[in-house]
Amino acid sequence: MLCERCKRRPAVNEIQVVENGIPVTRKFCRNCTVELMSGYVPVVKRCPVCQMTQNELAHLRKAGCATCYTVFRDELIKITRQYQQGHDVHVGSIPDVLRTPDERIEERLHKLAGELQRAVEQEDYERAARIKKEIIQLKGQGEA
Ligand SMILES: [Zn+2]
Ligand SMILES: [Zn+2]
Repeated sequence: MLCERCKRRPAVNEIQVVENGIPVTRKFCRNCTVELMSGYVPVVKRCPVCQMTQNELAHLRKAGCATCYTVFRDELIKITRQYQQGHDVHVGSIPDVLRTPDERIEERLHKLAGELQRAVEQEDYERAARIKKEIIQLKGQGEA
């Protein structure tokens, strides 16, 4: 099953999107998922499936559905780590979906997406262009 967006890479995530008012499930590769999530992200992240927000996630300390693991990947890793360090509570292992060989690149991409958004908000287009370039370079590595 190939990604329905780029039709090049294998699809690994099923994401429910609304098309013409009708929710449909689409299958995307990791790259496209990251792009979609970082492209038109509102300031507050929200899971498109269960509508969980970043704040709710931090409060509940658990994902609402499988898509949450994609949307709030960074947050969940942080929460899991905090929990295991700060409290003597075992909350289970990090789900497989969170562990990939290109984890480092994706983590960086996530960070850059945030920086890009900030740069655009601050109308610092020079910086935004630099960040975009770095994102494109990183994506090239991810595909290798
Ligand atoms: Zn794709
Ligand atoms: Zn969810």
